[in-house]
Amino acid sequence: MDGEASYFLPHYRLQNLLDALQHAGFNCIGPQVRDGGIVYEPLTHASQLPWGIRDHQSPGQYRLIKTDEKKAFSFANGAQALKPILFKPRETVWRVVRDENGKLEFKPHYSKEQPIAILGVRSCDLVAMAIQDKVFLRENHVDPRYEERRKSLFIIAINCSYASGNCFCVSAGSGPEVNNPFDILMTEIHDGLVVKAGSKRGHEIIAALKLEMARVEQNDEAANNVAQAAAMQTKRIPLENGYGLRDVLFSNLDHPRWEQVADRCLSCGNCTQVCPTCFCHSETEEPALDGSCSEHHREWDSCFTSGHSYLNGKVIRDDTRKRYRQWLTHKVGSWFDQFDVSGCVGCGRCISWCPVGIDLTEELAAISGEANEREKM
Ligand code: SF4
Ligand code: SF4
Repeated sequence: MDGEASYFLPHYRLQNLLDALQHAGFNCIGPQVRDGGIVYEPLTHASQLPWGIRDHQSPGQYRLIKTDEKKAFSFANGAQALKPILFKPRETVWRVVRDENGKLEFKPHYSKEQPIAILGVRSCDLVAMAIQDKVFLRENHVDPRYEERRKSLFIIAINCSYASGNCFCVSAGSGPEVNNPFDILMTEIHDGLVVKAGSKRGHEIIAALKLEMARVEQNDEAANNVAQAAAMQTKRIPLENGYGLRDVLFSNLDHPRWEQVADRCLSCGNCTQVCPTCFCHSETEEPALDGSCSEHHREWDSCFTSGHSYLNGKVIRDDTRKRYRQWLTHKVGSWFDQFDVSGCVGCGRCISWCPVGIDLTEELAAISGEANEREKM
């Protein structure tokens, strides 16, 4: 939100922000260290944030290190974005109960949840959420569970000041500066955060904090930090993250590289589980043994499972080559036909969390022929 006034929130007053959000009725969630990674967890005290922690990511690798900086947001990302908060990995969709006359009664199932305020949302994750909105909030096909969580979500976004070795949001067109809607936007500097409001309720929270206006040198430090995050990125998506790449992929469906990547790929599905835009799911029935009732569940699925392409008695994608090709040609190809946007926001998670370090930017470069062009240069 250009033109909005910027304020300075010193690090030692972050607790005031959490208190104001809790007072406004939100359940706060924020990044924390758990099991060697960064995860979004309930946050009641600012001391729970990952102070002085940075992530090192490379293909197939993710590790946290301590830095001398006393910052709370100096890492790039954890394994999950907003997806598990809005589109739960597993949830009950409806229940059916049989009464004493044998009549079945179907009831939709909703779990009542407190509105969430989430702290430290990255630009690429906001772009990914906007893509998931196209799936779950589509006209005439609205998912009511997603819609309720999404409407009440209070977003405290943060501009990145560091990029991991696997980030490529610049070439994907999704970061590191936040351009999607937010309630409050922060940029971290050495002793605090430059903040501004992006909504009425964001204004109200900032007003309650009674902050001083950010000084020119604080705004300059914030802008330099974001520029640094962009300049650090070494990976890029080949061609453009657009229709041109889609066309190249679909004209190379028999490229030998699909076979080569299939030799390495374990078909484990990690890439689809950590991807903030993947939305495929399966639905299952869990009947009670006595036949009195049954629950209908929805849970994340993956184009790497055999069941996901089971159609009319046959598994259509019966080998890893077809499954990997389906994933990549959908993600950065036919996603355009469905949603007029790429399914890749350049967060790099699928590269870090792939157990064998398969890097989609390298695969795309090989299949599009860009890798050959680079070698000739
Ligand atoms: S495909 Fe990989 S880099 Fe792109 S959004 Fe999904 S996880 Fe991130
Ligand atoms: S590309 Fe990597 S993460 Fe994805 S299914 Fe294959 S081995 Fe698993």
